[in-house]
Amino acid sequence: MEIIADFHLHSKYARATSKQSTLENIYKWCKIKGINVVGTGDFTHPLWFEEINSKLEPAEHGLYKLKNIYSKEIEEKLPVSVKNNSVRFILTTEISNIYSKYSKTRRMHNLIIFPDIDSVSKFNLKLSKIGNLKSDGRPILGLDSKILLKIVKETNNKALLIPAHIWTPWFSMFGSKSGFDTINEAFEELTPEICAIETGLSSDPFMNWRLSALDKIAIISNSDSHSVQKLGREANIFDCGLSYDDLLSAIKTNDQRLVGTIEFFPQEGMYHLDGHRKCSVRLTPAQTKSYNNICPKCHKDLVIGVLNRVDQLADRPENFVPKSHKSVEFLIPLLEILSEIYNVKNSVKVIADYEFLYTKFGSELSILKNLSISELEKCGHTKLAHAIEKMRKREVFIEPGYDGVYGVVRVFSPGESTATAGQLSLKL
Ligand SMILES: [Zn+2]
Ligand SMILES: [Zn+2]
Repeated sequence: MEIIADFHLHSKYARATSKQSTLENIYKWCKIKGINVVGTGDFTHPLWFEEINSKLEPAEHGLYKLKNIYSKEIEEKLPVSVKNNSVRFILTTEISNIYSKYSKTRRMHNLIIFPDIDSVSKFNLKLSKIGNLKSDGRPILGLDSKILLKIVKETNNKALLIPAHIWTPWFSMFGSKSGFDTINEAFEELTPEICAIETGLSSDPFMNWRLSALDKIAIISNSDSHSVQKLGREANIFDCGLSYDDLLSAIKTNDQRLVGTIEFFPQEGMYHLDGHRKCSVRLTPAQTKSYNNICPKCHKDLVIGVLNRVDQLADRPENFVPKSHKSVEFLIPLLEILSEIYNVKNSVKVIADYEFLYTKFGSELSILKNLSISELEKCGHTKLAHAIEKMRKREVFIEPGYDGVYGVVRVFSPGESTATAGQLSLKL
């Protein structure tokens, strides 16, 4: 069966997250988005773990579901078109490891996935002796990533550690500011235990394929969302049974059961190009080279983005595509497309149309990925149909992100958009 899975997200207990990120709301939005397996996020946080314990119950092996008393009320308010999408939880968290190795400060984020609540309890107890788990849904531990991996595996051999958003400059395995150059430097003799990496929003599989060192490793994508509306902006598509073991084995073998990923256009990520936010300086890797990595405005070191860093570590040319590879679909969230068409952000009108669309056609991901363009046109959504068609063909306008500034990806060029902004009529 096709399973869309988003493993990495944060709860209301993580810093800079929405208070709306509750288990009930995550459940509701997964139904609307069309996500079948969703991470709990933040299971290391004692209060969040308490909620996980009291509100979820075991479903298929290694997966959990929201108890009936909580799910019933949500389902009653959802339209038939999305109400029956099945949603399961999988136990996940992210840990920020800050430590010194080879006489340099390293900062790495690691995504952890566990198959059962008992093991999570044991794992949390071990970590609570190392650092403070209460201060943040994504705790900071002064612990070597390799030791963390050892603790994960000793607690439960089926648990996974996946280096998170591996290219972001400040907090990742390959980050330009505090990362490593190889997986082996980070994990040494435990390297064979690393069977997957997460692309992060600022990179995509095409960029990762340029490193032969990643050939045998599953490339996965997750939303890392801090609010429920952003769930599934990146996700994984599996074709396997619905259980922890099936998902684990698909990731470990990296075979055809891991079908591919849903991607954000990587230029939209906050660290795609190089630059300085404060100086409003955004540079391509070639421009950065011509300035010797120094900001032309403030004359300090530039923040080297993901594209440049991939270039430094890659042993293959740009646009290299392996003979056999996973599917890659670039999507723009439907709310963003509607906002662009109406030229307003999150207005009542945009939200009303969003609700109309999933009520009529089913989940957001099925609309973006699968709905036939003619079907949309038939209903009078010509502008939206055109937008989705352009997105699927990757014909989009892009202002890349840099140094913590999100990029802008638009379906229509500015002139095209304003000229026809009033023409969308949503007749449902
Ligand atoms: Zn992170
Ligand atoms: Zn500067």
